[in-house]
Amino acid sequence: MTETEPVGFIGLGIMGRSMALHLLEGGHSLVVYNRTRQKALPLLDRGATWASSPADVAARCAVVFTIVGFPHDVEEVYLGPNGLISNARSGMLFVDMTTSSPALAVRIAEAAAVRGAVSLDAPVSGGDKGAREGTLSIMVGGDPTAFNRVLPLMRLMGKNIVHQGPAGSGQSCKLCNQIVIAGTMIGVCEALAFARRSGLNLDRMLQSIGSGAAASWTLQNLAPRILAQNFGPGFYVKHFIKDLRLAMEWAKQKGLDLPGLRTVLARYEALASRPGGENLGTHGLYLLYDSSPFLPPSH
Ligand code: NAP
Repeated sequence: MTETEPVGFIGLGIMGRSMALHLLEGGHSLVVYNRTRQKALPLLDRGATWASSPADVAARCAVVFTIVGFPHDVEEVYLGPNGLISNARSGMLFVDMTTSSPALAVRIAEAAAVRGAVSLDAPVSGGDKGAREGTLSIMVGGDPTAFNRVLPLMRLMGKNIVHQGPAGSGQSCKLCNQIVIAGTMIGVCEALAFARRSGLNLDRMLQSIGSGAAASWTLQNLAPRILAQNFGPGFYVKHFIKDLRLAMEWAKQKGLDLPGLRTVLARYEALASRPGGENLGTHGLYLLYDSSPFLPPSH
């Protein structure tokens, strides 16, 4: 595709606003839509054009990216009466980067195919930082020819871009990613609580374990936010619970028991039941262990 053909982008939250900006900075003209228009203003100031609905985006663009919140949002944007699919033309290409259900990705790909269009599932990992820096890992499911067509645009948003297989396999891969993060996150929070009760200097503890066998993105990027008592998102608790439930459901359908994942999910559900809990960043899990972080332990 050429830089003169406008690209559509739907969903301008924590992730989408940075990802869309990379497309704009890459020289592409952009048509954007978001449920709350105000979040589009920084992109409109930079030259993006506002569309009034997903249908309006479909009418103006041949390639459309989406990154909304939950599977029901994906369903509305794609399969709703004013959505992308019922307004699709032959040859159009849709790329959903939301973390969503593998089964829904298959349904959307089938619905797109009926209209002669293609839909890829392409969820991402790397957090708000990866979105800002254009270094996301992108896991793609769906038609390989469409994948190659859209790869130059994905390269503006990510660095590690892998085609995983047929429709839905990008989402299945992302759920593997979330299963690993669930284990890592609870480990990081429990280690910090343990270190504090042991009277260790937390910065020094992180300095030692951050480059050994325990090293991880979570430890490197989120442990410092815990130490700074900055528990905002990042990545919302409510979205992580959505992902862990998707993984639990998918595993159940495959006859697989994941007791570790079930434990972490229950901890996050406990956090979300607290006032404001579901809108914390995922590293807010630490607050279950230590409600007044970094006051002297006697408090
Ligand atoms: P977010 O800040 O809540 O952004 C989602 C955006 O989608 C919001 O601006 C929302 O509109 C918009 N939206 C939702 N439903 C819509 C609809 N029907 N029509 C139009 N716009 C709609 O969430 P985020 O952190 O960017 O995450 C987005 C997705 O990426 C989630 O599935 C999340 O699990 C995944 N993800 C997030 C991270 C991360 O670190 N944040 C990392 C990897 C993957 P409003 O402005 O009205 O709310």
